[in-house]
Amino acid sequence: MLSRLIAAGLADIAEKLERGERLDLADGRRLFDSPDLLAVGWLANREREKRHGGRTFYNYNIRLEATNVCVASCLFCSFARLKPGDPGAYTMSLDQAWDKLRQRARQPLTEVHIVNGLHPDLPFDYYTELLRGFKRIRPDIHLKAFTAVEIAFFADLYGMSDERVLRELMAAGLDSLPGGGAEIFADRVRRKIAHDKCGTERYLEIHRTAHRLGVRSNVTMLYGHIETAEERVDHMLRARALQDETRGFQAFIPLAFHPDNNQMRKLPAPSAADTLRVHAVARLVCDNVPHVKAFWIATGVEVAQTSLWFGVDDLDGTVQEEKIYHMAGARTPEAMTPREIERLITTAGREPVERDTLYNVVAHAAM
Ligand code: SF4
Repeated sequence: MLSRLIAAGLADIAEKLERGERLDLADGRRLFDSPDLLAVGWLANREREKRHGGRTFYNYNIRLEATNVCVASCLFCSFARLKPGDPGAYTMSLDQAWDKLRQRARQPLTEVHIVNGLHPDLPFDYYTELLRGFKRIRPDIHLKAFTAVEIAFFADLYGMSDERVLRELMAAGLDSLPGGGAEIFADRVRRKIAHDKCGTERYLEIHRTAHRLGVRSNVTMLYGHIETAEERVDHMLRARALQDETRGFQAFIPLAFHPDNNQMRKLPAPSAADTLRVHAVARLVCDNVPHVKAFWIATGVEVAQTSLWFGVDDLDGTVQEEKIYHMAGARTPEAMTPREIERLITTAGREPVERDTLYNVVAHAAM
């Protein structure tokens, strides 16, 4: 491999990694520019195996999007409908939302993952009751809910500080935050694709506050649209810098841009090669974030499987009824059973491990 790394011009980066030195912006750019994708993947795999060996994590979860009504107008979004009553707009009653869990009461789910549009008319107690109701049905279920963008929106709409919103949601049952809404941290891109929702500094500040309050979270990066390689690495470095302070991020999750049914539909979707490289570079640059996750709904199942040799050690969950990516044209299944995910991992030559949201190994036998 050494000769290949030398030929690819990556020998010095390999040596830095061996010495435990951090990669910088220039290193990250070179990893994106290198023509030898397999060499980049080899380096990322080495870092992955140092941390996790062949173990590959997944969890048994459901997704809930309680409303797609949203006052924001992100160009890449195929999910949001601006106003209640617009064709395709929906808002679940609390009972409809709780039913999603009640219907699966006998399944050994460990997590409900909740993200929503930014609805201008719902009262705050819709969200607190939503959480309380899920805990009444399954007191042990982990509620990973509301992106930092939603927390900022609640604070502005209901006249509270971000911290107060977090504390009230925690009192109602919030256990952790998902990483959505990060998109790309660079102002140039964020202004163009997501100009009317919370900005980068506030996104990071809300995660900083959550971590201080003992709430773990993830961080995402939407890639494959108008961002440059430098902006991708900058995004990873900003996540890494916050992680240096708080150690509260569990996973870095690259999210592939999907072009159907949104205002960026003229752009192509990212290629498989680009997807593999983004995950690999994330593993190499975000050295302090324990896990790199491939969200199989977005990458496609086959690419997610391949990514297990390109730095990825987590395949997200069984998911069930995913809407956001399917409205953007994803052709992946809307759900996989634990057995299907395990087969995917095993046939890639890796060892499946069911985890809960906080990466504790789940002891029960997979269904
Ligand atoms: S990405 Fe989120 S905030 Fe942006 S329009 Fe879609 S639902 Fe609304």
